Amino acid sequence: MHELSLAMSVREIVETAAKENCASAVKEVTIVVGKFSSVVPDAMAFAMEVAKRNTVFENAEIVIKEIDTILSCGECGQETVMEDFEFRCRACGSGVVQIVSGDRMYVESIDIDREEEKCTM
Ligand SMILES: [Zn+2]
Repeated sequence: MHELSLAMSVREIVETAAKENCASAVKEVTIVVGKFSSVVPDAMAFAMEVAKRNTVFENAEIVIKEIDTILSCGECGQETVMEDFEFRCRACGSGVVQIVSGDRMYVESIDIDREEEKCTM
């Protein structure tokens, strides 16, 4: 299950961000999962529960947003939503398409409580 190693990377990102922003606590972490990213949202949610133990974001809420995969058509120029993992333009049926978004997983936002006195910047 590669979600666990992804969750560990997220943990690093969150811990670094929390440190840089003098966070006393992290309230919420939002993760975006593209439908074509090979990340299973449920598995990711579970992996995050494991990854956040004994960290600054132990009590944070983990929000996982699944987004559609968007294809851009090389023939008609339209951007359409990929369905059934088919590389085909929904507008004209062309197979000359490229993925625009929705093929990755990333941390969208980290909501923190800032502790000013800890902050030297
Ligand atoms: Zn098209």
